[in-house]
Amino acid sequence: MNKQRIGIVGAGTMGSGIAQALSVCGHEVALVDVSQRAVERGLATITGSMERLVKRGKLAEADTAAALSRIRTSGELAALSDCDLIVEAASERLDLKLELFASLDALARPDAILASNTSSISITRLAAATCRPAQVVGLHFFNPVPVMALVEIICGLQTSDETYQAVADLVAAIGKTAVPVKNSPGFVVNRMLCPMINEAIFALGEGLASAAEIDDAMKLGANHPIGPLALCDMIGLDIELAVMQVLFESFKDPKYRPAPLLVEMVEAGYLGRKTGRGFFRY
Ligand code: NAD
Repeated sequence: MNKQRIGIVGAGTMGSGIAQALSVCGHEVALVDVSQRAVERGLATITGSMERLVKRGKLAEADTAAALSRIRTSGELAALSDCDLIVEAASERLDLKLELFASLDALARPDAILASNTSSISITRLAAATCRPAQVVGLHFFNPVPVMALVEIICGLQTSDETYQAVADLVAAIGKTAVPVKNSPGFVVNRMLCPMINEAIFALGEGLASAAEIDDAMKLGANHPIGPLALCDMIGLDIELAVMQVLFESFKDPKYRPAPLLVEMVEAGYLGRKTGRGFFRY
């Protein structure tokens, strides 16, 4: 497949990981964030992640400099005006994403595809904020992007077959596996994963066991590679809460209510690894 110019909005946990996965495969990446600090942290994360992959023999050292040179950064969305595809990976807020999609639609090339990495928000709704709804699609990567094999591809009601095929080809070209999923709150993985994590937070809040004990129990008893609370720290507590709120509000089912402890920790700014403190300290 031809190497593309791909824009990424948001240089946080996911945006930086997506930038790495794409640049390593030869694509030119423009990474945009409103926060210069996020951009710097994102680039540092990419460099550190590539160094670890080199040490494990999964990436040639010579390729890292080339991959890094393919990533340009900016604080302005206008830097994305020449992209073939733009992947939005900004914070999980509907108002923000609706605004971003309207802005991206106004500045992107007419033939560009606009994708969202949202964990739970309706792709149909984001597509409706643009004048190119057939070219809007969900491209849901998993954390950490450089190692996780899955990408859920979500078609909104308006998404064209051509748009689906273009992003499916890209996913295959970067060595990941696509699973097409219906546009529904939380799609497939987060519909199950986030309530499981939320339940672990209920268990912690009710004092069933300590955070480390809950994680050990799930690692040893359910053969999970990482405990649910450590996983939540990796995902970000704000993202977990946002997904639970979308599930709760969409299905109106009390089984999806966010655990009170999760709400309180987000209020305290304990968002997990990205803030140095979540259920564990970093
Ligand atoms: P994050 O908080 O690490 O990063 C979000 C970034 O977006 C921040 O750096 C912020 O400055 C930036 N941002 C906010 N408004 C912006 C704007 N108007 N323009 C440009 N940048 C802006 O969040 P994240 O974990 O990377 O999540 C990003 C998206 O990916 C969310 O939609 C989330 O639901 C989704 N997602 C997250 C995970 C995960 O495990 N964290 C997994 C899959 C999908």
